[in-house]
Amino acid sequence: MYLKNIDLRHFRNYEKLTLAFSPRINVLLGRNAQGKTNLLEAIYFLAMTKSHRTSNDHELLQFKAHHGQVKGEVQREQGPVKLQLDLSAQGKKALINHIEQARLSQYVGQMNVILFAPEDLDLVKGAPSVRRRFIDMEFGQIDPQYLYALTKYHAVLKQRNQYLKLLAHKEAHDRLYLDVLSEQLAEWGSQVIVMRQRFITELEHYAQVVHEQISQHNEKLTFDYKCSVKDFSDMSVTELKEKMVAEYHDLQTNELKRGVTLLGPHRDDLRFLVNGQSVHTYGSQGQQRTTALAVKLAEIDVMKDQTGEYPLLLLDDVLSELDGQRQTHLLKAIQDRVQTFLTTPDMSSIAKKLIKQPRVLRIEDGQ
Ligand code: ATP
Ligand code: MG
Repeated sequence: MYLKNIDLRHFRNYEKLTLAFSPRINVLLGRNAQGKTNLLEAIYFLAMTKSHRTSNDHELLQFKAHHGQVKGEVQREQGPVKLQLDLSAQGKKALINHIEQARLSQYVGQMNVILFAPEDLDLVKGAPSVRRRFIDMEFGQIDPQYLYALTKYHAVLKQRNQYLKLLAHKEAHDRLYLDVLSEQLAEWGSQVIVMRQRFITELEHYAQVVHEQISQHNEKLTFDYKCSVKDFSDMSVTELKEKMVAEYHDLQTNELKRGVTLLGPHRDDLRFLVNGQSVHTYGSQGQQRTTALAVKLAEIDVMKDQTGEYPLLLLDDVLSELDGQRQTHLLKAIQDRVQTFLTTPDMSSIAKKLIKQPRVLRIEDGQ
């Protein structure tokens, strides 16, 4: 799929903007603070009904404006679709082909986007919770079963933690009830873990291909799923569940002392290794960036497998920290595959690396 055009009214520093895009590479060229990221944000917003950098929609309205709008036409395999989001102090309205949708969840999914911004380096450098959120968000988007098991797991986890605190403070005494909660937690937790393992394996496969392309076969990327339940691979959901129940039993004294659940997918991590070494600990800036990029770009293929169509790719300020060679191979890896929007302050660094002429949009002060 690709976005044919966009129309903005009072969005960030754009008073009024109408643009047509290339189905291939679109370069957003401009000095700092002119509106490059704002335009990427508008495309992301049109797809997801949410910004990638703020949860406060009011910030998206141009200063002093009371209403704003983002409209665009997506070309999909089965035909074009008109998308529209209206913003005002009362909230937002989402329209597909001029028909207002009762719920935003009915609207999302018409246009799939993957965005890579400088903050995504946190995927490699940040805390385990960043990677868990990444897995849960991305996998949740494409597999409703995963989202269901995860939601159930978190509901039981909350209950169990509350009950552990009551037991710890001697405000409750029924250990049998704790066993019931452990059993339920293991039930959903084992499903989450087995599905996570499957998703991570698929993502690793595609990330390796991209990573090899960008690093030119000099480096090998591998994933290490650090599951809080040890030695679980090749276990069935039932076997894993039994193992978790047994481990909750062994952990009981410790859990009662601490008042929290010490085992389960909420304590998982995913580690990235380059040539066997942790990128988080030993990787250079460029290696960390290449890894984060490869993981994100791998999602393109995972989404294609799941939905049948390629998503749009939004790259904000991605080239600046890669050396010339890595830039060349990155651009090669994305050319012709997916519609891409990339921001840069300087055309000379990329012009020679593109096989086909991109569409260049010069951005100055919201125009
Ligand atoms: P850089 O190269 O530094 O990343 P950029 O071109 O990506 O720059 P943007 O983040 O797109 O810059 O735009 C920043 C400009 O938009 C700033 O000048 C900021 O003041 C302005 N801006 C942000 N939000 C609003 C808003 N709600 N209304 C009007 N202007 C806004
Ligand atoms: Mg920017």
